[in-house]
Amino acid sequence: MPVLTRLIPSPLVVDVRPGALDDLASVLADQRISQSGKLAVAISDGSGARLRRRLEPSLPGAAWFEVGGGTIDDAVRLADGMKSGRYDAVVGLGGGKVIDCAKFAAARVGLPMVAVATNLSHDGICSPVSILDNDAGRGSYGVPTPIALVVDLAVIREAPIRFVRSGIGDAVSNVSAVADWELAHRVNGEKVDGLAAALARQAGEAVLRHPGGCGDDGFLTVLTEGLVLSGIAMTIAGHTRPSSGACHEISHALDLLYPGRAASHGEQVGIGAAFATYLRGDREGSLLMAGTLRRHGLPVVAGEIGFGDEEFVRAVEFAPQTRPGRYTILEHLGLSPARAREAYAEYVAAVSG
Ligand SMILES: [Zn+2]
Repeated sequence: MPVLTRLIPSPLVVDVRPGALDDLASVLADQRISQSGKLAVAISDGSGARLRRRLEPSLPGAAWFEVGGGTIDDAVRLADGMKSGRYDAVVGLGGGKVIDCAKFAAARVGLPMVAVATNLSHDGICSPVSILDNDAGRGSYGVPTPIALVVDLAVIREAPIRFVRSGIGDAVSNVSAVADWELAHRVNGEKVDGLAAALARQAGEAVLRHPGGCGDDGFLTVLTEGLVLSGIAMTIAGHTRPSSGACHEISHALDLLYPGRAASHGEQVGIGAAFATYLRGDREGSLLMAGTLRRHGLPVVAGEIGFGDEEFVRAVEFAPQTRPGRYTILEHLGLSPARAREAYAEYVAAVSG
């Protein structure tokens, strides 16, 4: 009897707990990751120094590279610095910018990448996408999924709480993104990958309904695992659809229309998700989302991140242009400016009531 299955590229190691950093050397010594101990470690040029001092004694074969920023030039410079050494793997040790640069550089020099995330600001910690600034604004580059992911919850708790909040918004937005994907299936026959949708939705629902707070290890574990599963869902789907719908289009529109004024990714996509859920007619779901966001100290209306109602409505109108070809509730409704204004006012009244 034939056994049909599929292989899913996924990390060899996922280590999420307080104190995980103390065992990083033994994770990296795994023969499948590094035979010789020769590692290229990317760190930020600021806060990375302290981590380097802590880890240097246990990683004697490592070469350390400082990453200046989150642009494609920074990532190419990092790759150029690494290409003359014979390394087994690239380690990205830091926040989003360092990990995105390390992912891109590792792909460019053909090495596996180990992500050691020091904050939880978005679902890129274990995704096959590297987000880098380029001359045209911001680009998403396809890269292999990290071969290992290490998150030390003690380190996460030292990072500013806004990073944890941002991760919450990004995880919760999955629920709206998957609903948009299913809408596209119903209306246009777009293929939904059931496994990718399941992973992304469960990740979002778990964070949405978890009773804990930003300071609990139990909640932080569920949040980190949610962000990891989101990344794997994107790997399975082969695109960002499981974690990116109207919520992300609205956030991209805010970034593009009002450069320099952006709030965190998670704050913007969280508002986008609660509003998109409202637009899909799921008032109860929208209120649940808004309630969770508010409980964790996240904004639920545009005014709370410094955008006027008109500015937000303008972003909602512009949003479909940020992802041509992606069908979400925004493309489905094709809201006129007057109707978008009205819908947003209704949403604000609902979540404020
Ligand atoms: Zn996101």
